[in-house]
Amino acid sequence: MRTLQELTRPNIWKLKPYSSARDEYKGVAASVFLDANENPYNTPYNRYPDPMQWDLKVEISKIKKVSPGNIFLGNGSDEAIDLMFRAFCEPGRDNVVAIDPTYGMYQVCADVNDVEYRKVLLDENFQFYADKLLAAADERTKLIFLCSPNNPTGNDLDHTEIDRLLNGFDGLVILDEAYTDFSERTSFLSLLDRYPNLVVFQTFSKAWGCAAIRLGMAFASTEIIALLSKIKYPYNVNQLTQKQAMEMLSQFHEIEDWVETLKKERSDLMEKFTQLPCVLKIFPSDANFFLARVTDAVDIYNYLVNRGIIVRNRNSIALCGNCLRVTVGTHLENNKLIEALITY
Ligand SMILES: *Cc1c(COP(=O)(O)O)cnc(C)c1O
Repeated sequence: MRTLQELTRPNIWKLKPYSSARDEYKGVAASVFLDANENPYNTPYNRYPDPMQWDLKVEISKIKKVSPGNIFLGNGSDEAIDLMFRAFCEPGRDNVVAIDPTYGMYQVCADVNDVEYRKVLLDENFQFYADKLLAAADERTKLIFLCSPNNPTGNDLDHTEIDRLLNGFDGLVILDEAYTDFSERTSFLSLLDRYPNLVVFQTFSKAWGCAAIRLGMAFASTEIIALLSKIKYPYNVNQLTQKQAMEMLSQFHEIEDWVETLKKERSDLMEKFTQLPCVLKIFPSDANFFLARVTDAVDIYNYLVNRGIIVRNRNSIALCGNCLRVTVGTHLENNKLIEALITY
């Protein structure tokens, strides 16, 4: 791996971060806070939240078995994606490599930051080859994006190939594990110590049922986490979000029940899809959604919309011609979808 200094944009490497009142006061317990120009009324919303979300990181650390110093929390994973570009990619000069198709935000953030985005097509089983991604990279490639289970294809990426990429690439590998809770494969979190160039993304938006609170997690070496923390907005995770996340973490076992229910609903729904005349192929899923190739994606999408049922039309995405992406809902919602498709 190139050194972290070689990978980091020079202005970011030497940046002196904004120091907030909450950063500077770290002494004994105090009871009179006259340092941040807050209003003394309207407790608890009058106070700025903890900029480093320490209590929350300690609780996440227990469940994920990763030290708090290896955790970055952001306003959704989307913030972490954007910060990776801002920390490491020099606009107009550096580039990133990504599998294709995958989550659309990587390219949007690349475009916003004026960073070349190099796409490498998956094979017909939606698998990737480390060698192909490495062949697309050059000395100006700072980041490679992987997503496993991948969106919109739903499948886990091959772990041996991920290992090969981590060993073969001298920049940073971002592995987006937004859907890992629904997969039978183990997360790469336990391999952070082995791979200094690994950055794992997870989120509260899917299995945790908290898309509304906007909370994403990045896990990496303490050096990489320190860089991201240095350039984030000081209070990027608001107090309501921190409080709600603490509550969810205390009900950890209910989330496990949701995941089990959704995995069962997934297999029931996929099984029923196999019997529909308008379905040509169902792709295997390790997530809380699956991709299905249908006779006419645009027509079936519109047909469902007219019945108040919304799925995602992925027809125009690479390798996804005539494909719909279906999120697994409640038993009732899934039945409504099937009933509607039976009469298509
Ligand atoms: C849904 C999703 C996310 C979650 O993004 P948030 O900003 O945390 O809501 C991240 N990555 C992928 C691939 C997703 O599909």
